[in-house]
Amino acid sequence: MFLKTLAIDLLDFFFPNLCAGCEGHLVRGEEGLCIGCLLTMPVTGFEKDPENPVMKQFWGKVPVAAAMAYCHFSKGGKMQRLIHHLKYKNRPDIGVKMGQLCAHQLHGATMYSSAQVVVPIPLHPNKQRLRGYNQAASFGRGLAQVLRIPHLENAFSDERTHPRKPVRADLSVHRMYRVYLKCRI
Ligand SMILES: [Zn+2]
Repeated sequence: MFLKTLAIDLLDFFFPNLCAGCEGHLVRGEEGLCIGCLLTMPVTGFEKDPENPVMKQFWGKVPVAAAMAYCHFSKGGKMQRLIHHLKYKNRPDIGVKMGQLCAHQLHGATMYSSAQVVVPIPLHPNKQRLRGYNQAASFGRGLAQVLRIPHLENAFSDERTHPRKPVRADLSVHRMYRVYLKCRI
């Protein structure tokens, strides 16, 4: 036991396990994010507001039952550091962690209680090859784990990646593009 603890301490000395949010040292029991960062996530509270700014972006464009953002983003802030780790530092675990935190935030929010499946936005194959994973799917995996619903990573593809006859065209994020249902839910 003593030798195992010593080995872990030595490993931590040479390869420090740092928090992706504040870059402080993680202590035993902390994974990815320190307790300080977990307690101070810049949450929006949008899940309780049916007229939140994210929801308003869809008004008059596409019908959506609910939309929200988990956290506020600020330049140089915690969320920017977390997203940087997720997208450019090979840290899909940060996406899973944020998805889990977001799911806990959704508990008790009636607008999301009827969600039956999590489907992440597909990443262009070239980007996925470079990054090694789809960051939205990492987030979705954590979300689905806590909500205890299926996570269908490959349910949709867009016309840039899989050109073929469209089944439906109803998804808008930053720009309109066609989505295709590849499997039955
Ligand atoms: Zn931290």
